[in-house]
Amino acid sequence: MRKAEITENLNRVRERIVTCCGACGRGEGEVTLLAVSKTKPASALRAAFAAGQRDFGENYLQEALEKQAELSDLPIRWHFIGPLQSNKTRQVAEHFQWVHTVDRLKIARRLSEQRPAGLPPLEVCLQVNIDAEESKSGVAPGELPQLAQAVAELPNIRLRGLMAIPAPRGERAEQRAPLEALASLLQSLREQLPGAPLDTLSMGMSADMEAAIEAGSTMVRVGTDIFGRRD
Ligand SMILES: *Cc1c(COP(=O)(O)O)cnc(C)c1O
Repeated sequence: MRKAEITENLNRVRERIVTCCGACGRGEGEVTLLAVSKTKPASALRAAFAAGQRDFGENYLQEALEKQAELSDLPIRWHFIGPLQSNKTRQVAEHFQWVHTVDRLKIARRLSEQRPAGLPPLEVCLQVNIDAEESKSGVAPGELPQLAQAVAELPNIRLRGLMAIPAPRGERAEQRAPLEALASLLQSLREQLPGAPLDTLSMGMSADMEAAIEAGSTMVRVGTDIFGRRD
């Protein structure tokens, strides 16, 4: 995709965020746009960066590391948003600022142990399987309090909030139900862990961004509407 097209798409997504925040009485500064760049070349990220984008989300470790090497001259904030297995935690702990997909204590412990001493704590969201889908990763809502309690005690990660990928739904009103459920789980966690910096609801993609903002999202993860369809 051409640079001008990425800039235009990015501006259109930003306008949608501003409009939606205005319509539901939220400040536009409350919502961070995470540009999801999986499968897209480093040149596309460079174009988005030139248009002011700073937060990028990647799903596949090897692909992300290659792009990070190509873009090491840019002060990008890198977010890992893909499935995370034990054998990848070290590189994720070394090369990312954020991880959105922690759903097991074992993974969280490894990330904390492997976070390099010279870096600030890793910012972590717990992924919740909000629609109880069999094939989806994410902690079950009923197991969340126990996991959050244990993760919040780890020294080198900061538990920032929750993330979910709801099952696709067509209408905005239908889309809102699982998103509101995630928001209410975060509210409960805040009461459970009063000292923790739980300020992040990572939810909303190209197709349900508005519903997510209405439900309280603080970080929308948008790929297709910025970079075009993936092959
Ligand atoms: C691919 C992906 C997105 C972006 O999805 P789009 O529909 O392209 O906006 C967001 N979050 C996660 C976890 C993804 O894997």
